[in-house]
Amino acid sequence: MTAAIFQDIKDSLRHLYLEDERPWLVGFSGGKDSTMLASLVFDAVLSIPAEQRTKPVSVLCTDTRVEIPAIADMVEGTLDRMRKCSQQHELNIDANLLKPTVEESFWVNIIGRGYPPPNRTFRWCTQRMKIDPVNVFVQQRLGHWGKAILHLGARRAESSTRAQTMAGREARNGLRRHPDLPRVWVSNPIEFLPTEDVWAYLLQKPNPWGGDNRPLYKLYASASSGECPIQIDTSTPSCGNSRFGCWTCTVVDRDKASEGLLASGDERMEKLIEFRETLLFYRDPANGKRDNRRMNGNDGPGPLLISARRELLAKLLALQEETHLQLISPEELLLIQQMWKAARDPDDGRGVARIVNKQRGVIMSTDLNELNRLRELQEEVAVEKGIRADTLRRLLAKVEEYSESHRAHGLPDDLLNILKDDLENQAAGTAK
Ligand code: SF4
Repeated sequence: MTAAIFQDIKDSLRHLYLEDERPWLVGFSGGKDSTMLASLVFDAVLSIPAEQRTKPVSVLCTDTRVEIPAIADMVEGTLDRMRKCSQQHELNIDANLLKPTVEESFWVNIIGRGYPPPNRTFRWCTQRMKIDPVNVFVQQRLGHWGKAILHLGARRAESSTRAQTMAGREARNGLRRHPDLPRVWVSNPIEFLPTEDVWAYLLQKPNPWGGDNRPLYKLYASASSGECPIQIDTSTPSCGNSRFGCWTCTVVDRDKASEGLLASGDERMEKLIEFRETLLFYRDPANGKRDNRRMNGNDGPGPLLISARRELLAKLLALQEETHLQLISPEELLLIQQMWKAARDPDDGRGVARIVNKQRGVIMSTDLNELNRLRELQEEVAVEKGIRADTLRRLLAKVEEYSESHRAHGLPDDLLNILKDDLENQAAGTAK
């Protein structure tokens, strides 16, 4: 019976694929629902003859830069396998890992701007770290395509809020208009499936891109909680309290995902969980870490004091050394320094360098002119090579990302995808 339901979903996806030329976007978080969705999409495309696979399909996944390490590794591995599968079978599917800009990273907002760690009423993070990167990508692609269909793995059974949100949006031919992106239609192919069916599907066979879902099942096994859906608008439920949230998440009372991973032997999580407790302590106005004037000058709990931001930076760098994980980047550090100079109680422009040097015993330049000179040099090289400066920066960042994780597997494909993206953008710019 359930096999027939899965086949029905694949058939309707196949039908939708062939019905028109609208490109597809597929939200993917690495959790069970979106893994099932992506798997159904791959199967549907595989069932179409190669010469008819002309529709561009983009899998979209966000990385907030503070993702739980084991989950970030798993998701990156899956995206890599999806790319290879697409190349091998000429599926015309690309897999994209989208990150917030450095200016909107978690640490730049907390340690640089002094935002208090987020809570339910001041959840500033989701828009900046999850929704904006997706919207920027979609807008860029829409400039080229004109319109698109966005497939999401949301299910009514997952939460009553989600059921209400989904029921409240008018559907036509199974597609709803996206609330913020007028030329995007949203499809929820697994909307009515219960959780048991999702696991039945995921565990019965390997993924079309290879590998099975037992590791994913193990991740869910230690604590029962919802999946953090890919965020497309603010009406989507909080991504806190999920398997796939940020390790820094202070929106939830308990971070069951991190605790579950620690219980299953991931010792890096112990220190990360402790740091999350530190963030909770710094957020509480009773602990004297916050200004008693709000950002708008009114009385009330305001931003973190500059002294508290300094303490947090020192603790974060110590954590980085202890865990051997890259938790904050040099670009974030430079931006934080810039912000401290403009804070209510500004420092002399050397505060970050002093903390970094003390912590690591290395000299760090806080000379922003150096960063500007680097940017100018990048612009010159980009002109010389006939690509956009942004593209060159993305290529360099990708190489850096691989060298930080001491691996090269997948790098050529990633570089090629960035260059393809550049060509598409240039073509779209010329066509306008
Ligand atoms: S997991 Fe928590 S910290 Fe991360 S974006 Fe969602 S609500 Fe914010």
